Amino acid sequence: MKEKYMQALLPISKWSLLLLSIFTVLSGCSNSSSPDLVIYSARKEHLIKPLVEAYQKETGLTVHYFTDKAPVLLEKIKIEGKSCPADIYFTVDAGNLWHAKKQGVLRPTLSRTLSKRLPKHLQDEDNYWFAFSVRARTIVYNKHKVNPSELSTYEDLATKKWKGRLVLRTSKKVYNQSLVAMMIGENGTIKTKGVIKGWINNLAAPVYTSDTKAIQAIANGVGDVGIVNTYYLARLLKKDPSFPVTVFWPNQLTNGTHINISGAGVTRYSAHPKQAVKFLEWLVSKEAQTIFTQLNDEYPVAGDVKLSKEVAAWGKFKSNSASLENAGQFQRQSIRLMDKLGYK
Ligand code: FE
Repeated sequence: MKEKYMQALLPISKWSLLLLSIFTVLSGCSNSSSPDLVIYSARKEHLIKPLVEAYQKETGLTVHYFTDKAPVLLEKIKIEGKSCPADIYFTVDAGNLWHAKKQGVLRPTLSRTLSKRLPKHLQDEDNYWFAFSVRARTIVYNKHKVNPSELSTYEDLATKKWKGRLVLRTSKKVYNQSLVAMMIGENGTIKTKGVIKGWINNLAAPVYTSDTKAIQAIANGVGDVGIVNTYYLARLLKKDPSFPVTVFWPNQLTNGTHINISGAGVTRYSAHPKQAVKFLEWLVSKEAQTIFTQLNDEYPVAGDVKLSKEVAAWGKFKSNSASLENAGQFQRQSIRLMDKLGYK
């Protein structure tokens, strides 16, 4: 079977993408003047809009953005070629950024601000993309059913003591593809195969279509533990502070908790590359980083930024600092492995 990320592209013909392009140009414009900057964003409307609004207010520039799924935007940039209006491709998941770089839609960006302020593992080694927020994919558990002393690592969730207790999201989601790709990169295929097999044997219920549904299943007692991105739990805790699920930071004595990113790069045919770099540099400012942490309960990439109350309560953790290139490099293997082992 071809890679699952390609499935999203299959129903989209080149013609429909071209039509989409025309629609974009019309709908993406908030006024008739030509923009100073155009962003294609796989971050959803409610997450990109506040950043763009704050930037426009501060600089007086006109910024247009268009949102869609990462593979759709990537294909769109490729088809539009030199006439692509986008200056920036903004997406989640290092695997998506890796593909964008490989497919030649980005250009390298030389910025002292970015290379100095961002840790090494949060920027592409050839400067094609940079991370602007960190998301931790960690273990969560039902406080009434699990003693945290039972928990230790992602790998341990594959052992017999978790039989019938584990809740997972589908392997079709890029978050899990990246988690497993990173495991392959660090531990090799054979060891990772054993872990995936164990996870599947331990499932309490068929895989869920979203992290939120997985967390709710843990809260409702369907299963006891799961692996999710922390911001989904933060959202649920904001609605209900007595929600019975909390975070455990795995692999603290070994390689650290798995993280992924949201990030962006300047497009190959950007008409405003200087403005694009300025925007990316602004994204590491305290103001922009605060928007990331407060709005979506993510972790900052730089600076001393206040976390939301719910996130701060989980305390500090050691994150995995292995190269996020692995998320892209081992994605095919990751998808193939999960497929073969019947991880739906
Ligand atoms: Fe998400």
